[in-house]
Amino acid sequence: MDCIFCAIVAGQAPATILREWDDALAFKPRGGVNDGHTLVIPRIHVADATEDPNVTADAVRRAAQYAAEIGANLNLITNVGPDATQTVFHLHWHIVPRAKADGLLLPWTPQHAARAAAAQTGDTR
Ligand code: AMP
Ligand code: ZN
Repeated sequence: MDCIFCAIVAGQAPATILREWDDALAFKPRGGVNDGHTLVIPRIHVADATEDPNVTADAVRRAAQYAAEIGANLNLITNVGPDATQTVFHLHWHIVPRAKADGLLLPWTPQHAARAAAAQTGDTR
């Protein structure tokens, strides 16, 4: 199987490793959205967060442990499938530290704002 994250786990592809556990790894994504952007992945290969809920839970436990040390607001998110913007098909949790007015948007931010405004005015189109 050709999986870049499995290659990183195996030490066969370069990565800036930030933390290692027996079951997971934290490293810097290539071209992260900010300096603190971190990925947490299980060592075993699962394609996404729906493939094996136990692996998902173990990996997000590690991500939460890591995120708790950051001491900032953050997004802890994962994408499932290309339509949801997943591009690497080895489960990964994104940790993105956030600051007020940092300019980062979630993919649904514009629609969320528009629908919230429409709900207020009673326009539910
Ligand atoms: P997603 O769109 O949720 O699948 O996120 C994929 C993440 O993997 C992005 O943050 C990419 O920057 C990151 N990424 C892709 N290839 C590599 C790589 N070779 N080394 C480190 N991070 C990578
Ligand atoms: Zn993999």
